[in-house]
Amino acid sequence: MNAETVDLLVIGGGMAGLTAAARVAAQGGSVVLVEKAERTGGSARFAGFVWTTPTVEEMRRVNPDGDPELATALMDGFAGGVSWIRSLGVECRPPVPVLGFGRGHQVDTNHYVDTCERLIRDRGQEVLTATWTRSLVTENGVVKGAECVLPDGSLRRIEAAWTLLATGGFQGDPSLRAEHLHPRAADIGLRANPHSRGDGLALGRTAGAAFGKKDAGFYGHLMPAGISLADPARFVELALYYSEHALLFDTTGERFVDETLGDHLTTMALLERPEARGLLVADARVHREWISASYVEGIPGVDKFQLCHRAGARSAVADSLEDFASMPEEWGYPGATIRDRIKEFNASADWTGETGTADANGTPAPGRLLDRRPLDEPPFYVVEAAPAITFAFGGLLTDAGTHVLSTDTDADTDPGGRRPIPGLLAAGADAGGLYRRAYAGGLAPALVFGLTAARTALTGSPAALAR
Ligand SMILES: Cc1cc2nc3c(=O)[nH]c(=O)nc-3n(C[C@H](O)[C@H](O)[C@H](O)COP(=O)(O)OP(=O)(O)OC[C@H]3O[C@@H](n4cnc5c(N)ncnc54)[C@H](O)[C@@H]3O)c2cc1C
Repeated sequence: MNAETVDLLVIGGGMAGLTAAARVAAQGGSVVLVEKAERTGGSARFAGFVWTTPTVEEMRRVNPDGDPELATALMDGFAGGVSWIRSLGVECRPPVPVLGFGRGHQVDTNHYVDTCERLIRDRGQEVLTATWTRSLVTENGVVKGAECVLPDGSLRRIEAAWTLLATGGFQGDPSLRAEHLHPRAADIGLRANPHSRGDGLALGRTAGAAFGKKDAGFYGHLMPAGISLADPARFVELALYYSEHALLFDTTGERFVDETLGDHLTTMALLERPEARGLLVADARVHREWISASYVEGIPGVDKFQLCHRAGARSAVADSLEDFASMPEEWGYPGATIRDRIKEFNASADWTGETGTADANGTPAPGRLLDRRPLDEPPFYVVEAAPAITFAFGGLLTDAGTHVLSTDTDADTDPGGRRPIPGLLAAGADAGGLYRRAYAGGLAPALVFGLTAARTALTGSPAALAR
């Protein structure tokens, strides 16, 4: 290794990248972190809970098509990740339930990412902001660093034993969204930092990395349709988390998903409906119990309906179900059908899906597994909702050691038929495989696999993989 070769080059300074770089620096290793934006932190700055499922079994239940090896590694590393955060003097509050099936800790993520960055610099290691990566440096199939463009336009070749791709995914790029998620995804709202545009994916692919899983979907939330998300304060303020207790109708006036299973799953389902928009209907009880109440312990409740209304969302309060029939025509929904469907739902609100009403094509309406109470207490709160993306589940395939796997099929060196690309790692939203059309936390995998990447960088040998 030449004298100027660092142990780890990190491309992307958000949750995964800063975690990896800070850990390497804390353990006496050498690291350079390059961040494209003016400031590090990425989407992690908007997040608040480090959480996932409490057991592998629960992960398999909610995410049956995800990679079991990655799920096990996430569970095994979770407690160590929490200890690492606390070891930096960053508060990690006692665990609370999240989304009904998960568990996690509220963390001041801004304090965490800033502490990581300071630690890296204090140990004499480099953080280069406003720097983008032109290409990976590759020799005989081994990744040995990258060529980066500094803010003054000059080129710097950074040589490294290991290079970690941690650019936060591809959700910021409309054409990649269309290619990997759905043609309509090009036009959906972005509920994340604007810089994660698939750079890690593109760099990885130049080195022969495999992408997966196919049709994995994405994590996001329903947001009021047509409302600008340019102000990041809106990412949480306007998110319609309460959809789990409401009814969602598409532009044909039909329900199409069990809303009670999770707003994030409903969001994915709505993308596939005509025009990717729908009317979210709640009643006075849901307004009282869910719309203005706290979504997760520790976060104070706010009246989301009011916030959406004030932001200019297409919304209304209907005094009775009969009012639905006079819904403004320009909204483009059959109001009378929606009225009838709500009445039918209320008449069979303990319905599990085996019986019940059907749409015009004879397709039965979806059941409700978790909240079957009727929506029969006027007034009714109506907001037009649309999907917005936080990150996609598809990415560079990795093993549990964060090694990026190649598209080669060599069953001798990897039981899954893929071999690691020597010198190349990925973590956070750049990595795929953990989730498929299911979600159990974004910070936790970025934290756990960021720490794993640091361990691989300090103990692993790319040369051993190249043999
Ligand atoms: C509003 C909101 C709330 C959220 N709440 C939660 C929550 O409570 N719990 C949870 O688990 N998850 C939450 N998440 C998701 C969580 O923030 C992400 O899963 C996590 O930050 C992913 O980590 P990452 O390192 O992959 O990406 P990021 O943290 O986004 O970091 C990626 C970094 O890479 C940089 N970058 C991009 N391209 C390049 C390039 N070419 N070169 C160099 N740098 C580059 C970006 O600028 C960014 O700084 C939330 C996200 C949002 C937006």
